Amino acid sequence: MTRKPPTLDEIQQAIRTIPDFPKPGILFKDITPLLADARLFAGTIDFLTEPFSSGMIDAVVGIDARGFIFAAAAALKLQAGFVPVRKKGKLPYQTHEEDYALEYGTATVAMHTDALKPGSRVLLIDDLLATGGTAAAAAALVQKLGGQILEIAFLIELSALGGRQKLKQFPIRSVVTY
Ligand code: AMP
Repeated sequence: MTRKPPTLDEIQQAIRTIPDFPKPGILFKDITPLLADARLFAGTIDFLTEPFSSGMIDAVVGIDARGFIFAAAAALKLQAGFVPVRKKGKLPYQTHEEDYALEYGTATVAMHTDALKPGSRVLLIDDLLATGGTAAAAAALVQKLGGQILEIAFLIELSALGGRQKLKQFPIRSVVTY
């Protein structure tokens, strides 16, 4: 069966904005309607992986938790491995950790010390770029393991929050921008 690939506009329209979730003042981007639509989900993976074909990427690294959904599907499409960057305390083996600043306080992400072979060609994926702190910490972990970041791809970029500034040394791409 061939399906008509979705447009960027259709993808953007399937993302719903929920005001004041999980805290007052946050406009939460809810991707569940997009994921539930087979054509839109597949099209989103096609956009996220657009510059690459099988054999160009060794590992797709996904960021806890919604990043996993897209990174795992992208890894299958690119015939690459999938590697999780998790919140601190979730990975069972030895880890490297990286702290990053939140609006109030700090958070920590972790990766297994043997998750990547040095020189691995990495596509790093998360669902959303806001201030860029999470992705910058994940990118630092990939680099600590000797991974080479070919691109950081996001489904959604909230451009007013300036996350790109924190990721200046990497090629960045987002599927839809607000
Ligand atoms: P940041 O580190 O500020 O770039 O935040 C990015 C991370 O926080 C991503 O992993 C997102 O899943 C999550 N996030 C931040 N802001 C939002 C938002 N408005 N809607 C949904 N998720 C968000």
